[in-house]
Amino acid sequence: MTVEELALGFEKLLDGKKKVTIISHFNPDGDAVGSSVGLNWFLLERGYSSCIVLPSAAPPFLDFLDPEHSIIYYTEDKKRAKDAVNGCDLIVCLDFNKPGRTEWMSDLLTSAKADKVMIDHHPNAVREGFNIVISDEDASSTCELLFRVLMAFRHTGGRASSLSIKSLSAITAGILTDTNNFNNSVTPYTFNVAAEMLKAGVDFDFLNNMLFKRFSESRMRLMGHLLKESMELDTGTEASCMVLTMEDKKNYGIQDGDSEGFVNLPLMIGNIEISAFFNETEDFIKVSLRSKGRISVNALAKAYFNGGGHERAAGGRLYIPIAQVRDYFRQSLEQFLLNNR
Ligand code: 5GP
Ligand code: MN
Repeated sequence: MTVEELALGFEKLLDGKKKVTIISHFNPDGDAVGSSVGLNWFLLERGYSSCIVLPSAAPPFLDFLDPEHSIIYYTEDKKRAKDAVNGCDLIVCLDFNKPGRTEWMSDLLTSAKADKVMIDHHPNAVREGFNIVISDEDASSTCELLFRVLMAFRHTGGRASSLSIKSLSAITAGILTDTNNFNNSVTPYTFNVAAEMLKAGVDFDFLNNMLFKRFSESRMRLMGHLLKESMELDTGTEASCMVLTMEDKKNYGIQDGDSEGFVNLPLMIGNIEISAFFNETEDFIKVSLRSKGRISVNALAKAYFNGGGHERAAGGRLYIPIAQVRDYFRQSLEQFLLNNR
């Protein structure tokens, strides 16, 4: 079925429902928050009782998308989160392809009695337990796909201007962050959507400033430190490896979300095809992988880093001492390249 046909099924499923709960993934990014906020406004403005539940906090630079602080974070208020999931008629899952991506909310989501819809752009969506799965790997972002879905609704008649600016701005924010400002995964349709957003009055200057031009001084200096002291390049495998330790974070006084985007920097170097960024946390090492396209980091993350994602952007986790990470990465990549020649 086409996205448009599935969208009509979703619109029909919404009919007669009162309470909708929107859920997105653990460690929510701009696409997760943007799609959730965009759909939430759409529903609220049409008389639904709708809310957003996220498994964990979003990075502070995304706060502007939720000025009313209406998002329920499971880590902050388990009871409200559970009530919202168990007490609704419909759950809409955005920007993730399997319940496990919600971490500690996975059982709650799986056992909830409500109807369930998934809208997502990751490969290999798990369909079990969902009434409708709208999955499109070719979409630049879940936000772009959500926009396409809403435009297919009879109710909107395909007019962007039938959505509020608040809704359109949040959706645009997710497209901007997931494509890294139109750098990755874009299609002609992505630019059509951007044109529609501009015509409808979305303020791109404002979004650009909020999303990409609000580094703190310490974050900028940490970036310089990592590029100078931590980035190691391997010309054989055409890979870059960067490690952010807890000590670095303490020294520079930065929070976890503050290293967002660092993984993209080494790909600016001509002969670097793959970038790996390892972020040491209390419980595990968070892995971020990026590729210019020749090598699938989704496959690499699945094979060696307990994760997954997209062809050019993926992530995962490691549970080894931080001192062993560089060797582990080099060996894994060499093996992977041998097996995938
Ligand atoms: P980031 O490096 O920005 O944290 O993640 C990039 C992409 O990789 C995300 O959009 C998501 O699709 C995927 N990803 C990140 N962490 C994980 C993980 O632990 N498991 C899986 N399956 N995918 C992840
Ligand atoms: Mn996404």
